[in-house]
Amino acid sequence: MSPAKKPSKQLAVVACMDCRLDVEAILDLEVGQAHVIRNAGGVLTDDVRRSLLLSQRSLGTRSIVLLHHTDCGLQGVDEERYLADVEVEFGARPDFALGAFDDPAEDVRAAIAQLRRDPLVPFTDDVVGYVYDVNTGMLDRIEPASG
Ligand code: ZN
Repeated sequence: MSPAKKPSKQLAVVACMDCRLDVEAILDLEVGQAHVIRNAGGVLTDDVRRSLLLSQRSLGTRSIVLLHHTDCGLQGVDEERYLADVEVEFGARPDFALGAFDDPAEDVRAAIAQLRRDPLVPFTDDVVGYVYDVNTGMLDRIEPASG
């Protein structure tokens, strides 16, 4: 029997696309248990928000896990310089943000706050953020900023 369409753990995960992250293994997830939404940096882009809207409104998820990690390709990137270099190199400036950041834990806190402000992501009582250490395999739970 195939798993149900609605994730049995009522969970949506937003994670970085980094090739060192085996998201299902890290979070001990099996097929049928969660939606896993990935992009560079695990950034809450409009497309991620679209997926979360569908996940919560149509497919019954109620919890969100944000999974970022150490040594991310977006960490420490000078966003303005990167976009300017792309414009010189390709003759077109991206019409989207890169989502560069300095500190992964701080980036997780900012993402939690962004989710809680987003009226199109209605269920945010259970949002948990982690930074995965790509060297040790340890998960560091990030407490949201107070207030
Ligand atoms: Zn990354």
